Amino acid sequence: MIPQPASLDTLCFDPTTGLAPAIVQDAATGQVLMLGYLNAESWAKTRQEGRVTFYSRSRQRLWTKGEESGNFLQVDSLHVDCDADTVLIRATPVGPTCHRGTVSCFEQADQSAIPAAAIGFIAQLERLIIERQQFPERAPTSYTVSLFKKGIPKIAQKVGEEAVETVIDAVAGHRETLPGEVADLLYHLVVLLVGSGVSLAEVIEVLQERHRMPSTRHLTE
Ligand code: AMP
Ligand code: ZN
Ligand code: ZN
Ligand code: ZN
Repeated sequence: MIPQPASLDTLCFDPTTGLAPAIVQDAATGQVLMLGYLNAESWAKTRQEGRVTFYSRSRQRLWTKGEESGNFLQVDSLHVDCDADTVLIRATPVGPTCHRGTVSCFEQADQSAIPAAAIGFIAQLERLIIERQQFPERAPTSYTVSLFKKGIPKIAQKVGEEAVETVIDAVAGHRETLPGEVADLLYHLVVLLVGSGVSLAEVIEVLQERHRMPSTRHLTE
């Protein structure tokens, strides 16, 4: 069971419908995935089980998202808004959240995907890299797959090369080529992390921990 702040007990359901809307957000990327409705029973079940159960207005019954598709929403945290009539659910989706197969219900099939917030995109990239590592047969010609085949020493060497190229551009004041070099560096760094079994979330946790203790010096020279 996930941690339960007392304020979660204060959620007010609409007096006529008995429902409260819930916005579901991807906990890693910040992307908005879908909106659903909760009644008291589905809210209790969601809190109990740590996976999202809505009340389906069309079917007039409890609906655990993923009950047919397997694409469950695993709850990371639950938040009730200022006047306690709406819920924000931060979750990790097991698969595409929309029944049309898109990551988010707010993506139109004829549009390119709604981009995640800038930094959230790195988490999307991490997910794709993990998929390449786990299912290389899905993308046999992928560069990422070829990197994993060569192994950690080769990936580490690429990180070193891209770091050197980044440093050279920065020192030389090559402003135009710097973003591309840093992109190469970030991508290879994420591949190195995935290959080493370390998640970006763990790295961010270290940064956040340092942020909470601003007086401590962490950098070495
Ligand atoms: P699922 O909950 O993914 O097993 O899907 C069960 C049924 O719920 C699907 O056949 C759709 O009719 C409906 N459904 C699934 N996902 C969504 C969604 N994100 N928004 C609205 N309806 C959905
Ligand atoms: Zn509100
Ligand atoms: Zn949808
Ligand atoms: Zn480069």
